[in-house]
Amino acid sequence: MLDRSNELTAWDRDHFFHPSTHMGMHARGDTPTRIIREGEGVYITDSAGRKSLDAFAGLYCVNVGYGRQEIADAIAEQAKNLAYYHSYVGHGTDVSITLAKMIIDRAPEGMSRVYFGLSGSDANETNIKLIWYYNNILGRPEKKKIISRWRGYHGSGVMTGSLTGLELFHNAFDLPRAPILHTEAPYYFRRADRSMSEEQFSQHCADKLEEMILAEGPETVAAFIGEPILGTGGIVPPPAGYWEKIQAVLQKYDILLVADEVVTGFGRLGTMFGSDHYGIKPDLITIAKGLTSAYAPLSGTIVSDRVWQVLVKGSDELGPIGHGWTYSAHPICAAAGVANLELIDKLDLVRNAGETGAYFRQSLSNALADHPNVGEVRGDGMMAAVEFVADKDDRVFLDPALKIGAKIATALGERGVIGRAMPQGDILGFAPPLCLTREEADIVVSAALDAVETVL
Ligand code: PLP
Repeated sequence: MLDRSNELTAWDRDHFFHPSTHMGMHARGDTPTRIIREGEGVYITDSAGRKSLDAFAGLYCVNVGYGRQEIADAIAEQAKNLAYYHSYVGHGTDVSITLAKMIIDRAPEGMSRVYFGLSGSDANETNIKLIWYYNNILGRPEKKKIISRWRGYHGSGVMTGSLTGLELFHNAFDLPRAPILHTEAPYYFRRADRSMSEEQFSQHCADKLEEMILAEGPETVAAFIGEPILGTGGIVPPPAGYWEKIQAVLQKYDILLVADEVVTGFGRLGTMFGSDHYGIKPDLITIAKGLTSAYAPLSGTIVSDRVWQVLVKGSDELGPIGHGWTYSAHPICAAAGVANLELIDKLDLVRNAGETGAYFRQSLSNALADHPNVGEVRGDGMMAAVEFVADKDDRVFLDPALKIGAKIATALGERGVIGRAMPQGDILGFAPPLCLTREEADIVVSAALDAVETVL
């Protein structure tokens, strides 16, 4: 293959506006782009021929791993047969209908219908509209506020960027603050008093939520949204009892629960959905990434029967729902989704995520937990994080300006393994493809140990 790296680097610097990137550093060429050419299993290879073990599955999305022939074939066949047809009034395609059935078959109890989108962000925009529509149809137009959590991540659209509880995604964008509110993050390691047990801290989070609902007026609060396990906010599993206590508060005030399963849907925690794993009974579920393992962009809003019945009533009163994307249920993406879900079953990847994930997290903990600058090694299923601190015993956090997480991620990259420095905190995150083997997990752990010992 002709080496066009220099030309591409110049075009990239001069013309490509990258997401979530420091624009000045990119434009000045301070952070040259690594151009990725190929992927196979858990490995990617760049234009210089350097291979890396991708222990973050792209952006925790390439769940079945790279280079899967079955999905590539399904996409190619669909593109040849029927690249596109819409799913508006009275139309659909065999693959999108089949995929909807496959999703509901796998979804937690009580789920009824899937509305397809293209990204996690647009699926959460759909959620917000459906929640507002739902309360209008029920004759309570004042019940519109949505409570999210600090450190939650729900996208970067106008409303979903506002739902996201990370300052970086709010900075200088003037996103609407109302009707979005943020409550306590279920982040025991950073937020709990040292005297508190996990259960006590969960109670504290539930109390804070209830205080907020009462201060705002329960008749104004429509929904609560949360990831089963905090993802981009630091890969933080919920403290013991958290979801049970939160759900009790929501039920008391008739507030809908949205489980944002963009990361956890389709196996990442060792169960098909994170809601099954933590005993969450959502009214709406957001799905994306793992639905196609990112072989094509596809997302969905799964609607429970409880919500669906009200939407039907709405249509009977008002006519068709005025919400639709041209590419909703795009057949090529749906074909990728069907092939992906079949592969997850065939390779038993949900079980592997649970079992190999547990092995990986234990090995990471064995290697790093005693390091004087490692405050916590945590995670669940095929998700893990290492949080670095200045002083372990007194839980003194590092100065963010030191960017230790980023330095360790870079050192790890130099050792041929990709992890991710999570925003706002000195946290190195891992979310490998669900097909990771124990041997591959060992490679990640030994590179991580070496990287940490070099930087700290
Ligand atoms: N929700 C969660 C939990 C996510 O992690 C993400 C992306 O990482 C999103 C929503 C937004 O998805 P997208 O980037 O596809 O818009």
